Amino acid sequence: MGELEHKYEVEVQTTEKRQKLTDEVKAELKASGMMDDKGKLKLKGVSPKMLKRMKQEFVDCPVLEGNTHFIQCFVCPNFQSRVTGKVLCKGDPLK
Ligand code: SF4
Repeated sequence: MGELEHKYEVEVQTTEKRQKLTDEVKAELKASGMMDDKGKLKLKGVSPKMLKRMKQEFVDCPVLEGNTHFIQCFVCPNFQSRVTGKVLCKGDPLK
């Protein structure tokens, strides 16, 4: 009881490699005010330290069927919350 309804629990993984957000995701972030014109991320309630860590993280997304930048996952409509290294994901089809 009280648990958020979700379809998947997706493990958050870390990479040393530099990950890039796709232009599509960047455009969405900008449109919703979460990224400024210079491409700097402005996520509410996320400290610079957390943000730095998030940039090294990804999930193997069950909906998009592939590795997905954690920032993209974090702002995804299916994102419910993050609990002990796992994303609770609604799992709805994405456009
Ligand atoms: S929240 Fe979105 S990006 Fe993250 S795992 Fe679910 S569908 Fe994939």
